[in-house]
Amino acid sequence: MRERVAREEAETLLEGKSRELYEANQRLQKLLGTMEQAVQDRTRELDEARVAAESANEAKSVFLASMSHEIRTPLNGILGMAQALDDSGLSEEQTKLVTILGDSGRLLLAIINDVLDISKIEAGKLEFEIIPYRLTDLVDAMRHHYQFRAQEKGLAFKTVMSQAARCSVKTDPVRLQQVVGNLLSNAIKFTETGSVELLVELLPHRSGKAVLSIKVKDSGLGIPKAQQLRLFERFSQANASVTRMHGGSGLGLAISRHICELMGGEISLRSSPGEGAEFHAKVMVEVSDDRPAHTGARSAADAGRSLSGLRVLAAEDNRTNQIVLKHMLKKVGLALDIVDNGEKAVQALEKTRYDMVLMDINMPVMDGLEATRRIREIESRNMQEPTPILAVSANAMVHQVAGYLSEGMSGHVPKPISRDSLVQAMASALETEGRWPD
Ligand code: ADP
Repeated sequence: MRERVAREEAETLLEGKSRELYEANQRLQKLLGTMEQAVQDRTRELDEARVAAESANEAKSVFLASMSHEIRTPLNGILGMAQALDDSGLSEEQTKLVTILGDSGRLLLAIINDVLDISKIEAGKLEFEIIPYRLTDLVDAMRHHYQFRAQEKGLAFKTVMSQAARCSVKTDPVRLQQVVGNLLSNAIKFTETGSVELLVELLPHRSGKAVLSIKVKDSGLGIPKAQQLRLFERFSQANASVTRMHGGSGLGLAISRHICELMGGEISLRSSPGEGAEFHAKVMVEVSDDRPAHTGARSAADAGRSLSGLRVLAAEDNRTNQIVLKHMLKKVGLALDIVDNGEKAVQALEKTRYDMVLMDINMPVMDGLEATRRIREIESRNMQEPTPILAVSANAMVHQVAGYLSEGMSGHVPKPISRDSLVQAMASALETEGRWPD
């Protein structure tokens, strides 16, 4: 009897416990459901926030890119007119003023180009054009650009190249020159006495590729440790007063760092205040056996001479740009006709045989690409030799220039136009002649 009572009590207790357990389980299930819902809601909110932030960032990049593009067009007029004024036989005083005008315009252009590069980097759209390139050409170009500037400040300018680096490598020469040029221009800017040195070496790498190592050393101000890492961030400048005196956007090192990283390398800095700075850029390259393309070493004066007596047609709708072209080509001694849209260019070529065409891309009535297509069709129908057609446009990204060439154009001159780049591009287009599209 006692045993039965005890068993019944135990069963009741067990039943109670099972019920409690069941209810606790139910509560847990409910809680789990609520939590899952909360996690899902939060993930969705975060996703929405990320998409919104990405599209805001994209909108900002697009805005920056189109603003800088729009600013380059009037700047073309300012720089071109400064050059035309300079050529017009000015007094000493006027020449000084025009030089300041030109220098300020070029500084503004450099800042705009930096902003454009940063917006391309942020949008993941920085393009590289990898071609065979002789490293001695890099050192020559840097000496050509910076030796005089260094000497003007009383600084010694030295370049050292290892024996192994005297070869051709596959790389993007324009971006490489941008990085080294930025480091050298900073070194000269922030050094008052002593020297600036450029050291180029090529080191083997286990991947079979090679590391191109470029050091730029100066004996200038130096940079405190605390500021060194920050310098590679956008818009950062170590010494605001010195920088204000020299100008600059604070973007150069950030852009250089991105370029080196995108080329499989890095950039680093060793410096202490008062003891100068050593910037070390490394990028991966492939040693190349291909013969590098002609690097346009021919001087602008030689190029200009080879153009004398030519008959050239320019299609350009912007009145200021028309005047810029006219002035730039005046000294060369060629006959220039100007039309203001692509359709008129096609008609002019049907009537007159021109030696070369300078073709703007964005024009009313018929754009430069359509006009080029029509001209190539007519030439091919009439079995005529293709006339060299140079695209003259501010749209100078690698894929855009490749697009012009595949439409049958012979080359490209970027806007704002500089006289040297214009006559050099014209001379080399003459050498290679025009092309029908591939
Ligand atoms: P910018 O030169 O346009 O200001 P950079 O990104 O090229 O922009 O350089 C950022 C800053 O780094 C400079 O403003 C300067 O304060 C510092 N800096 C760069 N190079 C040197 C150098 N060789 N010596 C001392 N300071 C330097």
